[in-house]
Amino acid sequence: MFDVIVIGAGPAGSSVAREIAQGGWRVALLERGEYPGQRNICGGGIEGADVEEIGLPDGLIHKRITRREHHFPWGVTTITMPHVTTLRRELDRWLTEQAVAVGAELFIQTQARAVVRKSTGKVEVTVVEWATRREITHYARLVVFADGPNTLAPRSGNLGFVRAPTSAAVGLVYELDWPDTPLDHYQVHFGARISPWGYIWVFPKRDLLNVGITILPSRGSSRQLEARLRAFIEGRPDLRERPIVRRAGAHVPVIPAARIYDDSMLAVGDAAGMVEALTEAGIANGVAGGRLAGWVACEALAAGDFSASFLARYQERWQATPRYRMIRFQSRLTRALLPFSCLDENLYAKLMQILLVGGQMSRWQKLRLLAYPLFHARRSR
Ligand SMILES: Cc1cc2nc3c(=O)[nH]c(=O)nc-3n(C[C@H](O)[C@H](O)[C@H](O)COP(=O)(O)OP(=O)(O)OC[C@H]3O[C@@H](n4cnc5c(N)ncnc54)[C@H](O)[C@@H]3O)c2cc1C
Repeated sequence: MFDVIVIGAGPAGSSVAREIAQGGWRVALLERGEYPGQRNICGGGIEGADVEEIGLPDGLIHKRITRREHHFPWGVTTITMPHVTTLRRELDRWLTEQAVAVGAELFIQTQARAVVRKSTGKVEVTVVEWATRREITHYARLVVFADGPNTLAPRSGNLGFVRAPTSAAVGLVYELDWPDTPLDHYQVHFGARISPWGYIWVFPKRDLLNVGITILPSRGSSRQLEARLRAFIEGRPDLRERPIVRRAGAHVPVIPAARIYDDSMLAVGDAAGMVEALTEAGIANGVAGGRLAGWVACEALAAGDFSASFLARYQERWQATPRYRMIRFQSRLTRALLPFSCLDENLYAKLMQILLVGGQMSRWQKLRLLAYPLFHARRSR
């Protein structure tokens, strides 16, 4: 029997497991992949300010980014914004190694199938071990769902992110082979032709380009996703000859979960909707949320109290953080403005320009932007 079982060894799960193991408790970290990060692919962009908080070593940083080019239908804006790029299969492995180094027990190729709270107060987790194809049952005093946007949490208790066409965007990423790519900045493309509610990005890694697209299913079919991304790559002479070495798709929560705790259960990271709806940044939020969940789990273990009323402090503390406030702000803005995107197919692009550089725009420039395509000749600045 474990003190805690953490389902999912992504950034959130490994961060929870590390805190719990460091507290001296017995924690199992279950990962369905052959190794942590095997199936996890995303833009891999992390804000400069978060690099220190995560403790990211230099070796995991592929490129240090200082400049972001935003391509809008009406022109290009460039802003300075310190970021780094990393590769998820390297980042996730490293985060898991940190947890294992302090005593977390990692089970790879182990997929949780069902989580049931027993009348004894223990939680039963049924898993499939893919190496042997055996079904096994583990028990713990507390279970943490860190299993991403398709989490088992809402099926297991009254908690976690619930995926629906309006609550999650769909993302698709290609990795293009480009040894020693000279690209040293982000390129982000907005507009109705790119994605009705989303964007296409080009993020450089050491020997790769990460090119991806997101779309909200309620604003465009996910089948269009690949066609749009391919059309973008075809339209770029510098990209179209590059071999695609990897391709993956995933969901991105755009609404935070209403409840992230229940009796003997916590949810964290994407499984709790800890993602910014407009920028779709979730790695650092998952790590920060994971640490917080780990601390609360240690308090519950020390007190021997796994009741929902004890664990409610996790949600209270999370909701007091600036990270949660940013997630809530972006989510509310998305929900408020999304219905109007039927009237203006460039609404998302306009919103992003105002959020990114609105502080440098006069009231007249903002009005002119909102009126686009009226009164516009193409320009760059
Ligand atoms: C296309 C795309 C691009 C993105 N780009 C960025 C970006 O540039 N920067 C950024 O900050 N964020 C980005 N994000 C968001 C970011 O990827 C997530 O917010 C982040 O990965 C959340 O971490 P997590 O640990 O909560 O979940 P995940 O990373 O999804 O990890 C969950 C883990 O659980 C495992 N798992 C799932 N189910 C089970 C199960 N039943 N049993 C055992 N294991 C299981 C999975 O294999 C996985 O390893 C992007 C997302 C997408 C989809």
